[in-house]
Amino acid sequence: NQCELLAPLEPPVKVVVRIRPVNEGDRTVKKVSSDTLSVGDRKFMFDSVIDSNVNQEDVFQLVGVPLVKNALAGYNASILSYGQTGSGKTYTMWGPPSAMVEDPSSSSHQGIVPRIFQMLFSEIQREQQNSEGKQINYQCRCSFLEIYNEQIGDLLDPTQRNLEISDDAKNGLYVENLTEEYVTSFEDVTQILIKGLSSRKVGATSLNSKSSRSHIVFTFIIESWCKGTSSKCFNSSKTSRISLVDLAALDRNKVDDGGRQIVREGKHLKKSLSQLGHLVNILAKGAQSGNSGDISYRGSCLTHLLRESLGGNAKLTVICAISPENKNSSDTLRTLRFGQRVK
Ligand code: ADP
Ligand code: MG
Repeated sequence: NQCELLAPLEPPVKVVVRIRPVNEGDRTVKKVSSDTLSVGDRKFMFDSVIDSNVNQEDVFQLVGVPLVKNALAGYNASILSYGQTGSGKTYTMWGPPSAMVEDPSSSSHQGIVPRIFQMLFSEIQREQQNSEGKQINYQCRCSFLEIYNEQIGDLLDPTQRNLEISDDAKNGLYVENLTEEYVTSFEDVTQILIKGLSSRKVGATSLNSKSSRSHIVFTFIIESWCKGTSSKCFNSSKTSRISLVDLAALDRNKVDDGGRQIVREGKHLKKSLSQLGHLVNILAKGAQSGNSGDISYRGSCLTHLLRESLGGNAKLTVICAISPENKNSSDTLRTLRFGQRVK
């Protein structure tokens, strides 16, 4: 039947692990084969294991290219990066801001996200030039938000804090007053990414200044439709949503500032990450059994916002970023357990 024909071949949830290079000390994490790694004498299996010598372009080929293809085919597609502070989540997703504006072929550090939009816009351009008897129009728009302590802030307009999620049958799900920018090129997107990333919240004290304590969500919506009356245009309008999420770190060894804030932060974080894990797990299983069950997304801002990305025909890749040194073993095991739980 038609649904089967439309159903994509890959599984709805893929989990890949990326091992960053060793900073200092002993390395306990080793890649064993293309999909298996070991921590000491324990082995863990995922869809892929990316070793520390693999460059940004190859990571993009593995997880970014399929996302662009799925999104252009009309699927909602997402990448989430999970891991302790310093494990390479931000490097993997965005790369250094200075690398973002450069051509990916000349900037080896550029992250997956800018590479995705470089490819996406060149595919759109190619599609528009190749149109035989049909003209496809595209309209793209994006937003960039942060979730900190269960409060949503607009990264494109930092004066907008504590935004509300609106969710009703008539208007669907959206964040009230969140800035949405229409974009037509890779350059437009990189400007927005740079602006948003520079307003991300970072810890104020020196010991915590490097920890990323908020989830950040970049959402990109592509609408396409066919102009003209040709039969090729029949049923050709599509909407897809790309969600790119850099998750806050739930660090075991997080230094205590002595303030209550940290405790509350930790509680919210734990809850939103565990609900996320639960929902992704249901998504992975539901697709195998042919139904996605009775899911409640509203338990945390993160899962509520990602509803469209965690159900139905959505495609999701979870990147578990890990630090290979011995001293990080307990956080590494926690990250690997999250990765195993969601499959
Ligand atoms: P996180 O966002 O998980 O806290 P970062 O992405 O900020 O971690 O990475 C911590 C440090 O390690 C950064 O200086 C980053 O440039 C570096 N790093 C992370 N992964 C890699 C990698 N695969 N290759 C080279 N440097 C990396
Ligand atoms: Mg980070």
